[in-house]
Amino acid sequence: MYDVIIVGAGPAGNVAALRLSSKGYRVAVLDWRYDIGDKLCTGIVGTECSEAFPIPSELIYRQANSATFISPNGREYDVGSNGDQALVVDRVAYINDIAETAMSAGATYHLGHRVSGVEVDDAGVRVQVRTSNNSTSFSAKMLVLSSGFGTPLLRMAGLKDGKDSDFMMGAQTEVEIDNVSDTEVYVGDQIAPEAFGWVVPLDESRAHVGLMSRQPLNGHLEKFRVQLKSRGKIRDEISAPRRWGIPLKPVPRTYADRTLVAGDAAGFAKPTTGGGIYYAMLSGQMAAATAMKALETGDFSAGKLRSYEDDWKEVFGHELRVGYYARLLFESMNDSQLDRMMEMFLSPEVQQDTVLSSDFSFDWHSKTILKTVRHQDLRPLITSFGSVVTPFLTRLIRSSLF
Ligand SMILES: Cc1cc2nc3c(=O)[nH]c(=O)nc-3n(C[C@H](O)[C@H](O)[C@H](O)COP(=O)(O)OP(=O)(O)OC[C@H]3O[C@@H](n4cnc5c(N)ncnc54)[C@H](O)[C@@H]3O)c2cc1C
Repeated sequence: MYDVIIVGAGPAGNVAALRLSSKGYRVAVLDWRYDIGDKLCTGIVGTECSEAFPIPSELIYRQANSATFISPNGREYDVGSNGDQALVVDRVAYINDIAETAMSAGATYHLGHRVSGVEVDDAGVRVQVRTSNNSTSFSAKMLVLSSGFGTPLLRMAGLKDGKDSDFMMGAQTEVEIDNVSDTEVYVGDQIAPEAFGWVVPLDESRAHVGLMSRQPLNGHLEKFRVQLKSRGKIRDEISAPRRWGIPLKPVPRTYADRTLVAGDAAGFAKPTTGGGIYYAMLSGQMAAATAMKALETGDFSAGKLRSYEDDWKEVFGHELRVGYYARLLFESMNDSQLDRMMEMFLSPEVQQDTVLSSDFSFDWHSKTILKTVRHQDLRPLITSFGSVVTPFLTRLIRSSLF
């Protein structure tokens, strides 16, 4: 019997596996993929993430400390930062690197293994697994579910009923580029309703082009790609488009008897940008710490594991809440309101108070969000947008008080 079974070898699962195996616990990691980490992603991480979970330098494509934002009316705004904020990395290799370190520390990886059932009782945890040619099962004292967005395993573990309703869909492809040297972010209904589109150069010749939206993505990415091509920014596609979901809210409960939930499976992506690698890794680390305490004491009850939820709420609960209400406020604005908002928010003077101020952080958005909506110029502008927008402003301000 293993000490811990981890389902999903993404950022959350690999960090949990590394922490547990480094302390000598018997860990099994199960993933239906054969290519660890090859899940749809742009690969932008903050420097804080790269310090906490180091990235070998050869896996870093480039620094990403500035971007051009394009408002719905086509106006361009250059935005810098107050120092090194983010990196564009080879995400598949980065996640693989953590997995390899976990394997060296003793974790056993079972790839091509799809978990199809979960049972928990007083004796332990049993997961049913399907491979390409047989069915088998694995047993452990504890289970970490880090199986990503929309995983049905939460329902099997009694942690969720009903379908995911609060999420966005992301779509992305890799393209050849001309004339794009820095990240470009496109806002407006024509490209990405309620969210944004992006061009993120990886080097001088390749970029990720993608977008996300709450709406079903029917031809949005293709239309965006054609627009960029007609402007002479990009050339041919290098890879076929892929799409996948991004959660916007944590699930109601992230622990049960013998079970913890981490990463996208728990709903831990930043609701503002959809970035989820860092919080997935942080939650994998916290899940491992809680699992170790349970293994030491032999108490695997939900009551004992509840401290995991207290831990992640303490670290990034406030961020998720404020970010969620900021997203709703953003979504409530129409294109002409977004044009006016961006004109003021991205003016050199307001940038000094917000994105260029010393407390701006790529990974922690709540301070900048709250500064923005309380800003002496921006607050009256948002309020002037009227009754469709102001209730969301009120909810956002209230969310920051808890
Ligand atoms: C288009 C797009 C772009 C993004 N760009 C960024 C970005 O630039 N920066 C950023 O920080 N975040 C980004 N994200 C979000 C980020 O990719 C996720 O938040 C992050 O990967 C979550 O990590 P995780 O470990 O929780 O889950 P995942 O990375 O999804 O890993 C889950 C793993 O579980 C496995 N699995 C699922 N079900 C089973 C099963 N039944 N049995 C066995 N294995 C199973 C999967 O194969 C997968 O390997 C992006 C997301 C999208 C959709």
